[in-house]
Amino acid sequence: MDLTPQNCPVCDAATPVQEWAQANWDLAGLGDLAFSSRKLPEWMHFHLVRCSMCDVVFANPVPSTDWLLAQYRQAAFAAGDESIMAARSYAKVVAALVPDMKSRDGALDIGAGDGAFLQELLDLGFTNVAGLEPSRAPIDQASASIRPLLNNRMFTGEEATPASLSLVTCFQTLEHVNRPLELCRKASNLLRPGGVLLVAVHNYRAWPARLMGRRSPIYDIQHLQLFSPLSLGRLLENTGLTRVTIRPLCNRYPLSYWLRLLPLGITAKRRVLSLVTHMGLDKCNISLCPGNLVAYGFKSS
Ligand SMILES: [Zn+2]
Repeated sequence: MDLTPQNCPVCDAATPVQEWAQANWDLAGLGDLAFSSRKLPEWMHFHLVRCSMCDVVFANPVPSTDWLLAQYRQAAFAAGDESIMAARSYAKVVAALVPDMKSRDGALDIGAGDGAFLQELLDLGFTNVAGLEPSRAPIDQASASIRPLLNNRMFTGEEATPASLSLVTCFQTLEHVNRPLELCRKASNLLRPGGVLLVAVHNYRAWPARLMGRRSPIYDIQHLQLFSPLSLGRLLENTGLTRVTIRPLCNRYPLSYWLRLLPLGITAKRRVLSLVTHMGLDKCNISLCPGNLVAYGFKSS
């Protein structure tokens, strides 16, 4: 793996930075779920610094896009019902935006997983819906009606005609990509005037992440940057979007999902999960706002 120094990925400039966390990773210690969503955390991460201008925490140096793509291509998939729960949370945000949108024709979801959110978009009346997902495993688990809408690739910005889409979404994916500002600008380029770019990220300034420190699951080998409200707003403003709005996102997940995020060792966590499963509580759904942010902005008319 080649690691290359980079400028701030939100400011796109050589801004002053402060040390945030020393590198803590060992490729040999990563399992086949290391680059999959909703796994048990290994608490491994690259060397992290914080931009003094925009507040984003980012990996420096970073691995290449080709190396990342190779990891995601072979990643196992372990999400199941949780992707449906997450998709419902995002769909509520979109439903509230629909009255402000001029059209519901043309929607692209970047990092679509098993496509659960595409079904929500169809249910909300969107047409010409598509998703991009670099891992093969979640696509193989997609429902038969959704699978043809999923493309097994990373986003390049050439997936649609410029100014042709009403909505581009990118949930829990901006942390994973090299050059997130470039991704947002290419996504914005595909939006027609009045179209919406909607993203969701982890908030490293939220209380759970502050409480857990480096034992928070957001400190992960997959996360090349971590956002706060300030840095996320700066990202969408630097993209050139207007009416940028940022707010916390609440998620409804089974108890077993929340327990997996606890800062316990893997053995202790397996014991807790096994106990909760034995008691029949693992599938109980609980709604929490544990520190995710949702942000959107409109393409100027
Ligand atoms: Zn910055």
